[in-house]
Amino acid sequence: MAQARIGLIGLGVMGANLALNIAEKGFPVVVHNRTASVMHDFIDGAGDLAERLVAAEDYAALAAALTPPRAVIVMVKAGGPVDAVIDDLKPHLDPGDIVIDAGNADFNDTRRREAALREEGFRFVGMGVSGGEEGARHGPSIMVGGADAAYAEIAEIVEAIAARYQDTPCAAHLGPDGAGHFVKTVHNGIEYADMQMIAEVYGMLRDGGSRAPHDIAELFEAWNQGPLQSYLVEITAKVLAAHDPDTGKPMVDVILDAAGQKGTGRWTVIEALKLGQSPSTIEAAVAARSWSAQKALRETGAAILTAHDASQTGPDVLDGDLERALLAARIIAYAQGFSLLSAASAEFDWSLDLARIAEIWRAGCIIRSSLLDDIATAFRGDLPGGNLILAPAFVRTLGETISALRRTVASAAVTGLPVPALSSALAYYDTMRLARGTAALIQAQRDFFGAHGFERIDRDGSGLHGPWGG
Ligand code: NDP
Repeated sequence: MAQARIGLIGLGVMGANLALNIAEKGFPVVVHNRTASVMHDFIDGAGDLAERLVAAEDYAALAAALTPPRAVIVMVKAGGPVDAVIDDLKPHLDPGDIVIDAGNADFNDTRRREAALREEGFRFVGMGVSGGEEGARHGPSIMVGGADAAYAEIAEIVEAIAARYQDTPCAAHLGPDGAGHFVKTVHNGIEYADMQMIAEVYGMLRDGGSRAPHDIAELFEAWNQGPLQSYLVEITAKVLAAHDPDTGKPMVDVILDAAGQKGTGRWTVIEALKLGQSPSTIEAAVAARSWSAQKALRETGAAILTAHDASQTGPDVLDGDLERALLAARIIAYAQGFSLLSAASAEFDWSLDLARIAEIWRAGCIIRSSLLDDIATAFRGDLPGGNLILAPAFVRTLGETISALRRTVASAAVTGLPVPALSSALAYYDTMRLARGTAALIQAQRDFFGAHGFERIDRDGSGLHGPWGG
């Protein structure tokens, strides 16, 4: 076997599939896993690809089997384990070697690691990988951050293993240090919002319309043939159609209604707030997952507070309204996510190419959807205010769908069904079309109790005060 250029540490779900993907594209890979038996089982189960896989019992063996400059992908649990692996690996590396963190890292950690390794003569790449197990094996979307020269060394392999959209690899070098992991984090934030909005529509159909899962599945399947076409709508239809082999019940009905989260949604919100942004659909989705986890409180609440009041009639909401509502809210969620990317790009001087980001999300990743082509086109053209909701194509689509979102949110409010993400999407839209908002009153209140000062609309100057004392 030819000497390998690339190594991979961490043969969990993602690492194992990524290693097979790399091997399948013709690149020999040296692999290592903390628990050796996992590594041997992996090679034993790799079939024909095993001939391109080399098991390294330790980091010394891994380094010895690689041609310098070595490139080593680290695909272990995010956080402390990544630092531990880097610390143990470093003594076996030479200056110029490249460590690639392909896990879901906090981009602040990526910036810290990149600076520290650069100081010691190594190179560090933060690589966001989206697409889950299937994507890692057959083509994920890959968002890379790091030095140009480091990416040049690994580009051939990265682009070979990425998903393809019309023959273009869904992989891009987006900027220095933490840029790739930041973009991956926001990708996941948008994923949270989209999943939550889909769940809210499901809730309206289930609790407001007494519709059965298989019926709702058919609706999502039909919607997936139209403007909502996307991986998440596609899998929602499949999930709702599945039955529990043990009980014969719809699978979704036997799953505990408490959602997990590993942190990327929360990080999106935290970083957004630090940047003075508020992606309200993502905030609502993170909040909804936290509320879902408060199962005991909700059960107590259900017994004490009156149940949702289906006897109250809100506006009529037809299936087509829900489809249009979801489309409007999805556009707004993407707009908020891209606004956040734009703010981070300015803050960290990354020069993010927003059109390219939309392009590499068109295949391989969890939020791939037919909207992304239009989003890329919008960013390549003249975009008023830099915000997607003002792109001509989306102004048109929102014009056709926003009243359905309005009716959906109104109906949910009247009948007492929670739609936090859908309603926050609508509030964002309504705020952004209001040239004179209500913050004058907030400024007056702040000045009243804290002498914080304000600006006037009719003269220059800041720090002005109102006649509150008299
Ligand atoms: P798994 O839990 O399947 O695997 C974790 C891996 O990390 C194992 O190989 C484990 O080794 C190794 N590991 C854990 N702690 C240490 C340590 N202290 N030192 C050395 N190795 C360690 O994780 P995934 O493959 O799901 O995830 C890996 C990364 O990819 C994470 O950052 C995750 O957030 C990210 N990711 C996951 C996606 C998914 O869909 N699962 C999608 C996109 C990104 P051992 O076998 O010895 O325990």
